[in-house]
Amino acid sequence: MSPDAPGPDGPAQAALAALAQQVQGCTRCPELAETRTHVVAGAFPPGARLVVMGEAPGAQEDATGAPFVGRSGQLLDLLLAEAGGDRARTAVLNTLKCRPPGNRPPRPAESAHCRPWTEQQLGLAAPRLVVTLGLSATRWFLPRTALGAVRGVVHEVAGLRVLPTYHPSAALRGGPRGEPRRLLAEDLALAVRLVA
Ligand code: SF4
Repeated sequence: MSPDAPGPDGPAQAALAALAQQVQGCTRCPELAETRTHVVAGAFPPGARLVVMGEAPGAQEDATGAPFVGRSGQLLDLLLAEAGGDRARTAVLNTLKCRPPGNRPPRPAESAHCRPWTEQQLGLAAPRLVVTLGLSATRWFLPRTALGAVRGVVHEVAGLRVLPTYHPSAALRGGPRGEPRRLLAEDLALAVRLVA
């Protein structure tokens, strides 16, 4: 989408809600459909210009059906707020809508099965910018890339502006004074400025 893209309006919002309903019944990945508690479709506040995209739901997301509600989500909220952003005005989704058991990495077939859902969501959300959290979400747009080679810079991919950065879980592992947290905060601040 162009830098002037306004985010989801009324009709797009309704289409996103209908899509979220549709994905609840998805069984394209038999193991995930069997083991999940909830499908985590994502959250798309009206008018959100910024999309933040992670890899897959974790245990708390699977339990609640809401994206980024665990410790990583809390850190994301905090850093967004420190950057002048607001989770209530930010769309949040994962490349995969169902939690892989034990938080194992998504299998290539699962990623491929879920891709059309995410493509439809991004098409309807029409964001000004997509921030990808971590390598897996970044490779959804930029296959075979290394995170260090692309983070902190806006890339144009298939009509979308994409800003790769660290996943909050890496920032948590690195500690409050670690490099991943500092760079994640820096990149979120850039993202907030770019969608202002
Ligand atoms: S991960 Fe995606 S494609 Fe697979 S069952 Fe869940 S919603 Fe369907």
